[in-house]
Amino acid sequence: MKRLLTEDQLREGVQRLAHEIGDSYAGRPLTIVGILTGSVVLLADLIRELNLPLRVGVVQARSYHGATTERGELIINSDLMPDIKDRDVLLVDDIFDTGHTLVEVVAKMRELQPRSIRSLVLFRKEGRQQVKHDPDFVGFSIPDKFVVGYGLDYEDAYRHLPYLAALEENEINDHPLDGERGAG
Ligand code: 5GP
Ligand code: MG
Repeated sequence: MKRLLTEDQLREGVQRLAHEIGDSYAGRPLTIVGILTGSVVLLADLIRELNLPLRVGVVQARSYHGATTERGELIINSDLMPDIKDRDVLLVDDIFDTGHTLVEVVAKMRELQPRSIRSLVLFRKEGRQQVKHDPDFVGFSIPDKFVVGYGLDYEDAYRHLPYLAALEENEINDHPLDGERGAG
């Protein structure tokens, strides 16, 4: 594993984002909605840097990979989200890769008639985007590598790492958590 961003760099990035949000909403109440599961670490750190009247909620987005579809169909579960009608909403995700996830979640949330909706991602991969939408707030641009840590997983492992790391080619096949189940 190659470390890309240290714990200190991530903290500074999150603080920078919190300042931008503070300036932008200027004391107005805000509803922050994190996209599960990747945004949990960011969400926890970001909200504690914000000095605004704040509501916090989550929405789940996961891809369902059918046998025939190349890109999985996105399943969005908003049951855990607070009412966002007529509210200023900031949607928070870990990483902006092709951009499809964020675009689809934003579209789904617009149906609930928020007063405004903007988006924030901690990482944006360079040269990968397939959508016109750009997030309103971006923490870091990172190279096109498969990254883990600070909320991001590989096969459900590594989310808890306090830094961001890129997996090497030879680390992408073995299941990182297999040992926990024991042999057989
Ligand atoms: P998009 O729809 O923008 O292509 O993909 C966004 C989602 O794909 C992210 O929320 C994340 O779950 C996953 N993803 C994209 N790139 C990476 C990566 O490098 N590492 C990990 N762990 N997940 C990624
Ligand atoms: Mg995700």
